[in-house]
Amino acid sequence: MNYRKLGKSGLWVSEIALGNWITHGAQVDDTTAQACVHAALDCGITTFDTADVYSETRAESVLGVSLKGIRREGIELCTKVFHPTGSGYNDKGLSRKHIVEACHASLQRLQTDYIDVYYAHRFDATTPLEETFLALSDLVRQGKVLYVGVGEWTAEQIKLGAALAKELKVPFIASQPQYSMLWRVIEAEVMPACEREGIGQVVWSPLAQGILSGKYAPDKPLPEGSRASTTAGSPFFERLAGQWLRKEVLQAVERIRPIAEKCGLTLPQLSIAWVLQNQQVSSAIIGASKPEQVKENVKAAGVSLDPEVMGQINHILNNVVELDPSKTG
Ligand code: NDP
Repeated sequence: MNYRKLGKSGLWVSEIALGNWITHGAQVDDTTAQACVHAALDCGITTFDTADVYSETRAESVLGVSLKGIRREGIELCTKVFHPTGSGYNDKGLSRKHIVEACHASLQRLQTDYIDVYYAHRFDATTPLEETFLALSDLVRQGKVLYVGVGEWTAEQIKLGAALAKELKVPFIASQPQYSMLWRVIEAEVMPACEREGIGQVVWSPLAQGILSGKYAPDKPLPEGSRASTTAGSPFFERLAGQWLRKEVLQAVERIRPIAEKCGLTLPQLSIAWVLQNQQVSSAIIGASKPEQVKENVKAAGVSLDPEVMGQINHILNNVVELDPSKTG
């Protein structure tokens, strides 16, 4: 494993992080979840990503149990607040009330005294940004949160947040957007805005939820046990299918496979290595339904890809890649 500084902060994170959206507390049983976490630790992953909303809060609990007994100083534990965790008006969003209550609940489920990076999962247009940052600032002063991040915020929202963070002396150091060979909407606006503010990218779905593993062949049934087959009928599936399970995308992904082979990599390894070529990316958060996937995917750490290879990939994906910055968020 290699390690990078998160933005211009002093915090080191592992180049590859493990996330547990959809998997822990839902798709996989707790024993498998723990095996994935332990495979990650064995491979040198120190950065773990979750959210209060994942699997209706169960994902945080599973991660808390899986990391029990692990030296706290040796890992970076990151979680998020925004999406509803209950049915009340105040069980969602970025109000002072919800942020403070959600943070306390996350600490309990994660069985820890502090969160390393606490993310505002989405922007809350219904709450004054000053209120949000003041609440985050108080949690930082109380030592319950060490650093602050945001998820899927636009460049303009990040700029406003960074100004408040400076005023309130909040260590706002991370942006967590979707980023992969197929989804590059942050390159035009979010990345330059973050670079100006010293904020690093901790990117999600580097495999486009498994599409870039190459296991979804055009015109073939969905592989049994895969995310697409296990989420069929759910809003998660709609998103996956709507974005990626299209013939032209799957055919383009197939054309990348020989490039991976030439580099001595598997397709998932090449895809994760691709996002890590961008030095603004501090860490790529992978998901895994099996420990073997973690062991395979971590081999993308430290890989350097030739400009020629990057050019070939761009050329192949030219007609299917999404670049439109207005799709952020
Ligand atoms: P990926 O794009 O890495 O997809 C992971 C999935 O792909 C796995 O669960 C597995 O699914 C499949 N897969 C992984 N490796 C392989 C392999 N080697 N061969 C075949 N299939 C493979 O990431 P995720 O979409 O899971 O997202 C990662 C994390 O990012 C989340 O857990 C979460 O922490 C974070 N995230 C943040 C969001 C935000 O709004 N801030 C939104 C979404 C995610 P399967 O085996 O089931 O097919």
